[in-house]
Amino acid sequence: MLDVRGLSVSYGPIRAVHGIDFTVERGTVVSLVGGNGAGKSTTLMAISGILPMDTGTVRFGGEDITSLRPELRVRRGIAHVPEGRRVFAGMSVRENLVLGAYCRHDRAEIASDLDRLTALFPVLGRRMNQMAGTLSGGQQQMVAIARGLMSRPSLLIMDEPTMGLAPQMIDLVLDTVSDIRAQGITVLLVEQNAVEALRLSDRVYVMRLGRIVHCGAGADIDSDQLKAFYMGVD
Ligand code: ATP
Repeated sequence: MLDVRGLSVSYGPIRAVHGIDFTVERGTVVSLVGGNGAGKSTTLMAISGILPMDTGTVRFGGEDITSLRPELRVRRGIAHVPEGRRVFAGMSVRENLVLGAYCRHDRAEIASDLDRLTALFPVLGRRMNQMAGTLSGGQQQMVAIARGLMSRPSLLIMDEPTMGLAPQMIDLVLDTVSDIRAQGITVLLVEQNAVEALRLSDRVYVMRLGRIVHCGAGADIDSDQLKAFYMGVD
């Protein structure tokens, strides 16, 4: 579904991602893991078109989308839930969700998607008219994920959805990832809780210093191996 070849990205003179290759098969959950500064967020932002690439190609659904603007990638079916759950604090939950459908014009379908998402996130259903800024961190993360789903993506990109959350909220958010996959949506995930990420992922790519240092089935990597990959011990 997603095929990334030779992707390099720089911030000014500093290269953060060095010519990486990876693929995401339709219907799977794929995780990018690695320590701070490994280049995970940068990779996600290049795929959704938020950051320009130095080199490489991104193919999605068999088509080359390398030079498409971010909003055209959203229309093709890629949604990005950014790091740090940037909800619009002064807007209601409903308004936040409707914003996620900005590329769509099918009002009746948008309304039915709102109903569907409140079934997936019951806690939001009860708070549709509440200002998003008054929700807990975990609830705001649910809003950010639900807003991403409002564009009806076939690929949902999630950047550290559990960051800063209490332990039981972490479990809830990670369960949501499995629910999303069960609906047939492919997920590309960056997650600090690497052990949990391995458990729910079909495939894992380990990044270090802007390169992929290992890839394999989530179930095949144990936590000791993972630590070694992070630290560069082979
Ligand atoms: P983290 O978990 O800390 O977010 P990451 O794996 O997502 O780590 P990136 O945020 O992609 O890593 O950062 C990769 C490299 O690019 C790091 O060396 C980082 O310092 C650098 N970098 C990231 N954002 C910027 C920026 N806006 N300007 C300059 N350098 C940046």
